[in-house]
Amino acid sequence: MELGTSELSLIIEKVLKEMSKRDIKSEVSDGVFDTMEEAIEAAYEAQKKYSQYTIEQREKLIAAMRKAILDNAMAIATLCVKESGMGRIDHKYLKLKLTAEKTPGTEVLQTKAYTGDKGLTLVEHGAFGVIGSITPSTNPAATVACNSIGMLAAGNTVVFSPHPGAFNSSLTMLRELNKAIREAGGPDNLITSVNKPSLESTNVMLNHEKIGMVVATGGPAIVKMVLSSGKKAIGAGAGNPPVVVDETADIKKAARDIIAGCTFDNNLPCIAEKEAIVVEAVYEELIKEMKNNRAVYELTDEEAEKIVQLVLAHNKEKNTYSVNKSFVGKDAQYLLQNIGKNNMNGIECLIYRAENSHPFVQEELMMPILPIVKAKDFDEALKFAVEDEYGNRHTAMMHSKNIDNLTKMARTIDTTIFVKNAPSYAGIGFGGEGHTTFTIAGPTGEGLTNAVSFTRQRRCAMVESFRIV
Ligand code: NAD
Repeated sequence: MELGTSELSLIIEKVLKEMSKRDIKSEVSDGVFDTMEEAIEAAYEAQKKYSQYTIEQREKLIAAMRKAILDNAMAIATLCVKESGMGRIDHKYLKLKLTAEKTPGTEVLQTKAYTGDKGLTLVEHGAFGVIGSITPSTNPAATVACNSIGMLAAGNTVVFSPHPGAFNSSLTMLRELNKAIREAGGPDNLITSVNKPSLESTNVMLNHEKIGMVVATGGPAIVKMVLSSGKKAIGAGAGNPPVVVDETADIKKAARDIIAGCTFDNNLPCIAEKEAIVVEAVYEELIKEMKNNRAVYELTDEEAEKIVQLVLAHNKEKNTYSVNKSFVGKDAQYLLQNIGKNNMNGIECLIYRAENSHPFVQEELMMPILPIVKAKDFDEALKFAVEDEYGNRHTAMMHSKNIDNLTKMARTIDTTIFVKNAPSYAGIGFGGEGHTTFTIAGPTGEGLTNAVSFTRQRRCAMVESFRIV
């Protein structure tokens, strides 16, 4: 078959059109670069464009990001668990949904005004520029999504350094957010990262002159590093949240709430109940109520010892323990299988009657294991709780109807989050009032971060004018 000239030119035109489309596509960045220097440079250039955007335009992009998080929540939750080998798909989905629905946008950037005889002074929230954000393996995608909303709402762009153990899930979230921003008419590279995150690339970020602020969400080592960087830093560090139960508590509800909080995402959240401290008068009753839940299994001393050997490494010289990361975020049945107990279908939480000094209490395990400590009274329970929290100033819970006890614990333990008569996650807005975040900054004091945390205050004084009374 021979083609006529006009048919040929039509085909050529079609092919060229396709090719040009492909060219445009390959020029469009998905925000992921080969080197940290390139990722920072791209975010820096993007911030120059983004700084010209109105609040209304920022909100339009944020709305598109929220939709992208929701649309991709199940796929990304699945990817997180597959890649990191930690946590639960159903709960990671809920965290992404919560992020989309309850992470504040620009509405929290409230201007302050002072007026008087001398005129009008405004204090507004300005952007830092480019923020470097380091994110954990335990909650990879929701941290990227939540920080992106807050940081962009504040007018910044962001470069992520995700944990190498969950970088694929983190980068998938990032790509979906960039795609949504582009489709909503926003600039490229508001959110960037590197295709192979490493400790070296994190170090480049911490020392780069174009990074105005650094935010670390992770364990003590990375928080210390950002605080030593010489830049404005937010540190959201480790916790070991205790939950105290006194004799006035609704024991049925306390049992239910504590197990729900402890098992959420296999105990990965930094806010999750890590140990329960219960006054003697209701100790047995609480354990009985917990065991009425068929997902709860009580470990014997022998089984608990086997799990200690499995999940903790003991340095006998220093008498310190370190957590075996290969069991972090694993489900209860997997832990049981590894000590030779099979066919434990439906078990989600392992409880154990422990002394307060037991390593299950003292170490941040991030596994669905709940040690339950007996205290002779509320004062002793509070003393244990304060010891176990280690001054992290992170999270604590209490189940009680005694207002004096609740108030005393809240004041004494001095944590960033204190939850009364509910599972820990009520403290981040899941079943409780208030906004959500997955970057809870105890060490540096911003608390439950939102767009305001990622701004610098700027003052503008107009003398002898603009006052209207
Ligand atoms: P992690 O400290 O191992 O890693 C966190 C991030 O820091 C990762 O991106 C990692 O690559 C980086 N990092 C760690 N050490 C580093 C070093 N020496 N140099 C350069 N980069 C380094 O933490 P994880 O296991 O992924 O997460 C669990 C920890 O994070 C727990 O302690 C948990 O309590 C804490 N956490 C806190 C919050 C919060 O909001 N406060 C939220 C989530 C997790």
